[in-house]
Amino acid sequence: MNRAEDLDVAGQTVLVRADLNVPLDGGAITDDGRIRASLPTIRDLLARGAAVIVCAHLGRPKGDDYAARVASGPSLRPVADRLAELLGQPVTLAGDVAGESARVIAATMGAGEVALLENVRFEPAETSQDDEARGELAARLAALADLYVGDGFGAMHRKHASVYDTPRLMPHAAGQLVLAEVAVLRQLTTSPARPYVVVLGGAKVSDKLAVIGNLVAVADRLLIAGGMAYTFLAAQGHQIGDSILQAEQIGQVTAVLADAAKAGVELVLPVDHVVADRFAADAQPEVVYGPDIPDGKMGLDIGPATSDLFGRKLADAKTVFWNGPPGVFEFPAFAAGTRAVAEAISAVTGLTVVGGGDSAAAVRQLNLPPDAFTHISTGGGASLEYLEGRDLPGLVALGDGR
Ligand code: ADP
Ligand code: MG
Repeated sequence: MNRAEDLDVAGQTVLVRADLNVPLDGGAITDDGRIRASLPTIRDLLARGAAVIVCAHLGRPKGDDYAARVASGPSLRPVADRLAELLGQPVTLAGDVAGESARVIAATMGAGEVALLENVRFEPAETSQDDEARGELAARLAALADLYVGDGFGAMHRKHASVYDTPRLMPHAAGQLVLAEVAVLRQLTTSPARPYVVVLGGAKVSDKLAVIGNLVAVADRLLIAGGMAYTFLAAQGHQIGDSILQAEQIGQVTAVLADAAKAGVELVLPVDHVVADRFAADAQPEVVYGPDIPDGKMGLDIGPATSDLFGRKLADAKTVFWNGPPGVFEFPAFAAGTRAVAEAISAVTGLTVVGGGDSAAAVRQLNLPPDAFTHISTGGGASLEYLEGRDLPGLVALGDGR
């Protein structure tokens, strides 16, 4: 891959595809980690005399056409404001993605100036399966700038117009964030130091089954927690009460359990839980001893025995990859398991990588020292797909040959 730092950008307009998909509560950004992670590349380009147009998506605008999606939102307005604060300079937010407003801004901006296009997912073509539709949007985006820099690692696994099609239309390079992410993920996939322990949590087992299937071949231990653990426990015949369950995945999960056993991979599931009678921050937490959960209760965190068990399974690790919080860490009463796992991993000497937007947010919320992990990835799905051994469309478009 070409490096953005090697591009001659003085006097050029550079389109930077960044990942600014931050969590929002109403209009407020609850974690600006992804905006911060995109600063080094933007700052470098500005310092070397480029005009920078940033393109990014936010959330999932709904609707069949552009107007409906604009009405649904969210706008990148709060992101533009935060980006301006962090850069210490104005950021012009275009009134559209690649229409008249974006064209006028692009044509009139000068060296050292920054503009942000509106939420690229306002354009239905961004995520279209139709190559021609994506190509038409990509052409409009490419017309705004001279050069393209791909730095939105968290979107690299998407075959989207701004990620995959646009760089193919213009000179392109990878930004600093993408290069750093790929360097770490490469270390995880090429002869990791052992024991190699993978901790997986999060809500849905369907998001992670492919990566689990692949990691069974390389990891020594898989520690499974979070909402996804209940489908595993159900597959083993346990009672899971009202916990989140993907019944249609039980067959696949059973196959993964068999594969792990055959490969000699230790697959560790929760042995106790913190439950409640409803999914709410003010629900009353209660520890259930043992793997079974009674009817009327839902598991919202791993219990203390599981935290201890996971701690022991991590103690001698030389390589750790963690994706997905082991509990509903957003609710303080159900965040203890996430803290325990984070602390156990931070005590590991070796390569420790955290992947996933929510996992990264959880880690920042815990206020651990900045060097607690080797690397905190900004990309959940993207890092998982990389670890699955798949080609990421965005990296392919930037010329990454794995
Ligand atoms: P990441 O973004 O790090 O990849 P995911 O998106 O897969 O992580 O999952 C994060 C979500 O999983 C969090 O919002 C968390 O509340 C949720 N979660 C964790 N444990 C449970 C559980 N037991 N029941 C329901 N949701 C859970
Ligand atoms: Mg997530």
